[in-house]
Parts: sequence; C-alpha cells; structure tokens
Amino acid sequence: MQVRVLGCSGAIARECRTTSFLVDGHILIDAGTGVGDLTLEEMQAIDDVFLTHSHLDHIAALPLMLDAVAALRHQPLCVHALPETIAALQQHVFNGVIWPDFGRIPSQAQPFVRYAPLRAGEILRVAGTTIEVLPARHTVPAVGYALQGSRGWWAFSGDTGGCPEFWQRVNQLPLSALVIETAFSNRESALARRAQHLAPETLARELAQLSPARACPIYIAHTKPSETELIMQEVREFDAITPHGFDAPHDIRWLSAGDVLQV
Ligand SMILES: [Zn+2]
Ligand SMILES: [Zn+2]
Repeated sequence: MQVRVLGCSGAIARECRTTSFLVDGHILIDAGTGVGDLTLEEMQAIDDVFLTHSHLDHIAALPLMLDAVAALRHQPLCVHALPETIAALQQHVFNGVIWPDFGRIPSQAQPFVRYAPLRAGEILRVAGTTIEVLPARHTVPAVGYALQGSRGWWAFSGDTGGCPEFWQRVNQLPLSALVIETAFSNRESALARRAQHLAPETLARELAQLSPARACPIYIAHTKPSETELIMQEVREFDAITPHGFDAPHDIRWLSAGDVLQV
C-alpha cells in the first residue's frame, strides 16, 4: 500500500498544505489543501474520501475537488465520515449558499456525492483496502484511521488531544507506521489543551502508552509552519531518551507534503 502525503501541515503557506493523504491512488484520507496538487485525472480516480472531522483544514478542498471532477465521473464520490461530520458538511458547506448541494445535483437519484456514516471501531473494506476507524478526542466529533498494508498497519491519529482509547486499539495492531499530530509547541501547551491538540510534552505522555511490541517509525504531522522548528526541537529532546520497555529511542520523523510511505 502506498500512502502519498498531499499535505499534513497545521496551516497554509508556500510549501505548506493542510491534511490530505492519497492511498493507492483511489482513497483520500481527509481533503485539505494538499488535494490542489493533484492532476484532474488523479482527482477523477478517487472514489472514496474518509474524513476525520469537520474542521476546514481537513475538508477545504472537498467542495472544489467535487466541482472539478463531478461531471467527468460515472458514479458518485463516496464521503465516509461520522454522522456529525456529514451533518456539518450538509448544513454549512453544501447548503446552496457556500456551495451547491452535490448530494442532490444533478439529480437526487444520481448525485455527484453520497455519504456513508461510520463510527469508531468500525472496520470497512473499500476497494480492496481494510480500514479501521480509530477513536480520537477533539473539539468536534473526530476519528483517526488505520489502514492495512502488506507490511503492517498505517495508523493516523487525525486531530486529537490525549486519547487512551486510541492507544488501546493501536497496541493491538501490527503497526508499520504511525502518523500523529503535534500541532503546537510546549509554550502553547495551554492553547493546545483547549483546542484538543497535542504539544511535545503531551505527545510524550501519549507515546508512553505505545506498547514496545509496536515500535515503528513515528511521523509528526499538523505542525504550525511558524512553530515547526521549535516543535521538532522539543520532540527531539524527549526522543533522545529510550522509552521504558523499548530497546532504543523512538524513531520520530517530521512528515511533509510530497513524502510517500510504503506500508
Ligand atoms: Zn481539527
Ligand atoms: Zn486540523
């Protein structure tokens, strides 16, 4: 399985695109601004979009992508998300004011988009890929995802604060790679707590819940461009310490648009 990072930044700027991952060319995990780098043909090949939550940095390109390829496609694009996320999209984006309601266009019987509600703990099989919905804790209802590749599972936290349920499940999966958010630096840790994001000190507490049997490369995502260097410096400070039960320090790396993970 190939996971192409279209974007994983906490904000936009030149070279910084918000969260979106393209899996094997046909599944999109979140639809942030990174989607704008795809060709028309690449967008057209996407049949399923899995959203972690309703925040703009994770859905911004969805309405525009649909507009670009809808008329070229022969079947509706399927948007998989929590019922609350779907309701937010319908009410606040595809409402005929911000953007047309592609759930009814061109016709109710044959729309450009259809919605598939999901819940944490659910396991789906989509286009030959097994996807499990992971729990997350954020300011709006949110999930993460784990996808099964030939070498193991690729787990993605989505946006989350501390979430013991995430680790309970992740510790049961033979991981090949873990992508976890660290949106803020430690000096912003009060804001991180309020916004239900992680900072390096809370990331360290989260990683302490990872089972030594699950050691794998850990990729840091969703860093604010203005704080990325500081965040990674703070992460490296605790990264140098071998965690209890592990043979070596965690293998922690910063993830950026353009990276490709073979899972
Ligand atoms: Zn968010
Ligand atoms: Zn976000």
